[in-house]
Formats: sequence, structure tokens, C-alpha cells
Amino acid sequence: AGTVEMTDTAVLPAAVVDGPAPATLEARAVSAWFGSHQVLSQVSLTMPAGEVTALIGPSGCGKSTFLRTLNRMHELIPSAQFGGEVLFEGEDIYDPSWRLTDARRRIGMVFQKPNPFPAMSIYDNVVAGLKLTGTKVNRREKDVLVEESLTRAGLWKEVRDRLRQPGGALSGGQQQRLCIARALAVRPRVLLMDEPCSALDPTSTRRVEETIQDLAGQVTIVIVTHNMQQAARVSQQCAFFLAEQGTPGGIVEHGATEAVFNSPQDQRTADYVAGRF
Ligand code: ADP
Ligand code: MG
Repeated sequence: AGTVEMTDTAVLPAAVVDGPAPATLEARAVSAWFGSHQVLSQVSLTMPAGEVTALIGPSGCGKSTFLRTLNRMHELIPSAQFGGEVLFEGEDIYDPSWRLTDARRRIGMVFQKPNPFPAMSIYDNVVAGLKLTGTKVNRREKDVLVEESLTRAGLWKEVRDRLRQPGGALSGGQQQRLCIARALAVRPRVLLMDEPCSALDPTSTRRVEETIQDLAGQVTIVIVTHNMQQAARVSQQCAFFLAEQGTPGGIVEHGATEAVFNSPQDQRTADYVAGRF
């Protein structure tokens, strides 16, 4: 882990130099609604700096919704309502002193389906990560951040000679690593990943897992996965979410991944990790 050398901050724009030091994220009593339908109730979880936290649980229990509340992405959904606090190094990202762009830059996101801009070049796809959060960079800084981000995403060697080719020309697994590079371009201190491998074949999945393992220690990672082996391979912490019939989702059990998998305290966790539902 943490094998990639980071660029000397002297050559980078001031806006990105607080990264990539990993940050602790702490959800306190997070609740969420879509209209009047409550889908999360009082979820509290600490995601320690530099660790990988896996969110597991059946479909529909609120994992993706929880993940979106961690960088205010849910505010893009008009009917979504939020309650609680999300502390980034002790500061509530919902405090009016935090702008949406602050939250999105410090806390990046990667989705299930690789979504690079297909007609845009590989180089410009990575730069788009900077543009989306309004980070101003000159040509030299762009070059440095593109190489650094593609290296950290484990893609540099494969694409260094074809940076001007369209992102859409890459394989699915490469496209997902390009999306990781795009998210890393602003040097986020936390990276949220919603089932990043579920659209990928086993070989591509393994490559993305290796990238996650390399990033651990440099950036705090929160990953939703339905793949129990993957959770066991990449995460140090694990939280099991469940929404029982007619009730909003919540965490049944959380702790060190090893303990959650090998000595679960709750029968429902034991049944889930053993594949019984
Ligand atoms: P998971 O990621 O664990 O499968 P989600 O967070 O996607 O769960 O969904 C939790 C609940 O919220 C589900 O009942 C789902 O139908 C509902 N939900 C998710 N997104 C929306 C939305 N945009 N509008 C209304 N309901 C939604
Ligand atoms: Mg989901």
C-alpha cells in the first residue's frame, strides 16, 4: 500500500496541496428520506483515516444513499432529505461554512458503471476532475496531475503513449481506472466507491482491487460491495447494513473486517456473510 510517490507539492496549485493526506470521516446519526419515505435511520460510523471501510448488505438497505450523504451528492436528487452530521476531520460538511465544491473536492466518488466522457481524450478526462470542482490549474500542473493520477490509478503504463485517444476506446476495466484517476486528480482525502467492480470481469476487478490496495494509506476509502471476498481482501473495517421489512436501513454490526467475517456478534450478520440471504 502507498507505493506511489507523490509529486512535490511545490509544483502543484495551492488548491490541491492539502491532499492526499487521508482524512477521518465520521457519520453521526445520519438519517435520509426520499419524500416522506425514510430509508436510513440514525446511522453512525467512523471511517478511520487511511483505512478502507467496506459497506455490505442486501440490495435496497440504503448503502448507496448513505455513501451519497458522505459528500452531499444526494443533494442532486430533489426529493432527498438529510438529517445528522458528517464530520470531516471533525468539521461538519453540512455546516454553511462548507461549500458543495469543498465537499466534492475533498471527498471524491466513483460509481458502479464506468462513466468516462467517451469522446474526450484520456488526458482531458483526468483534467475534467479538476474542472468539475473549479480547481484552476496551468498547463504544467495539469501534466503533473494527469501523470500522478493515472499512476495512482494503476493506468499510467497502459496509456502513457495514447493520452490523446478517447476515453471510450479503453476496455471497461481501464475505463473504471480512468474514472478513479479523474476522481484522484483533485487529490481528494476520501474516496467513495459504489460497487466499482460490479460491471467488470474478474481480471479487471482484480486490477481495481490492486489499485484500492495501493491507495490505502494515502486516501481514506469507503467502498460498497456485494462481493464478500472483495470486502475481505481490500477492507480493514466493515459495516453490515440491513433494512428489515418496513423499517429504514441501519447498521446491524460494524468493526474490524476480520471480526465481522469470522466472529460476527449478530445472527443476521452471520447469515449474510455466509451467503444465507
Ligand atoms: P442499496 O444501495 O443498499 O441497494 P439504496 O440506497 O440505493 O440501497 O436505496 C435505499 C432505498 O431508497 C430503497 O428503498 C430505494 O428504492 C430508495 N431509493 C433510492 N434512490 C431513490 C430515489 N432517487 N428516489 C426514491 N427512492 C430511492
Ligand atoms: Mg446501491
